[in-house]
Amino acid sequence: MRNKKRRSNREWVEKRKRSGRKKLTIGLSAASVLAVMCCFIIVAAAAPPPETAKAPTEPAAVKAAETEAETETAPAQPAAEPEPPAEKATEPVDLPVLMYHHLDTVSNYGTVVSEEVFRRQMEAVRDAGYHAVGVDQLIAFVDDSAPLPEKPVLITFDDGYASNLKIGAPILKETGLKATIFVIGRDEADYYYGDTESYFLEHFTYDLAQPWVNLGVLDVQCHSYDMHHALRYGGTGRDGMLRLEGESEEDYRAAIAADLKSFSVRRDRCVFPPLTALAFPYGYYNDELDQILADCGIRLTFTIENRVNRLEPGNPGCLRKMGRINVVDRCGPETLLNLMARPGSVSGS
Ligand SMILES: [Zn+2]
Repeated sequence: MRNKKRRSNREWVEKRKRSGRKKLTIGLSAASVLAVMCCFIIVAAAAPPPETAKAPTEPAAVKAAETEAETETAPAQPAAEPEPPAEKATEPVDLPVLMYHHLDTVSNYGTVVSEEVFRRQMEAVRDAGYHAVGVDQLIAFVDDSAPLPEKPVLITFDDGYASNLKIGAPILKETGLKATIFVIGRDEADYYYGDTESYFLEHFTYDLAQPWVNLGVLDVQCHSYDMHHALRYGGTGRDGMLRLEGESEEDYRAAIAADLKSFSVRRDRCVFPPLTALAFPYGYYNDELDQILADCGIRLTFTIENRVNRLEPGNPGCLRKMGRINVVDRCGPETLLNLMARPGSVSGS
């Protein structure tokens, strides 16, 4: 399963590279046409009138143009030196994960963070020397001992609110940071909560997220497709992604797999990084659910437990049931940095 996922990561990188090469090829083709046209104009201007052109040798302008063309096709740079083998990470690394939800121009509720506060928080994180990482880098650290940048931090948003793109993404870009958004799949592009008719908050569309993903500012991962319901908030049926009372193990596994499948089908309309991470809706989880998600290929799972994580090369378990710091509007930069600087621990240890 892990090999499959790693292959999937590589395939995504290849897909992005191919897309880049295609643009380059188109660019080169256009340049070639232009070069031929230029040659033609030069020849037309330099060559004598046809009736007087008797010289058996090619006009000098043609030779010059050909030489120029040859020069253009020759490698501009000497062959690059082979890259030295990449350094391998051997030591554990502490990773704070920040959890945000909705952003707004002003905040009148704790978990809604105002634009001004979010900007101050991101500037403080950057100025303290933190480097925002993506879930792909965390997998590479654990699987391949690929080093992480100094003081890594994973910034996350839950639910997929449009404000994450309108307010969050530009500030992340300005501060050189990036974030992972856990989207409720069925609420994509919706203003309503689940299948109710009550107005909630605008959720972004994948199409609008795509440019930010291409820029490397955002990643889009999973918060379930349609299991973001809680009994304590009036939901009926399943509590988050937990097993129903009396539900067989087989039926439960099938339900989780079907939910992830629905999520992937809708998300794969756009070119996003491989689906590898999930934040438990309402933070509800148990070991059974986490194992089923692992069996479905989800490499990282996130709780709402307030702690810093310790990542260890070669230990895939450290990517599971990770803690997150719930960042609210009243959380000043100093408080935030203190919360991030606590020593990390591996989930369950
Ligand atoms: Zn949520």
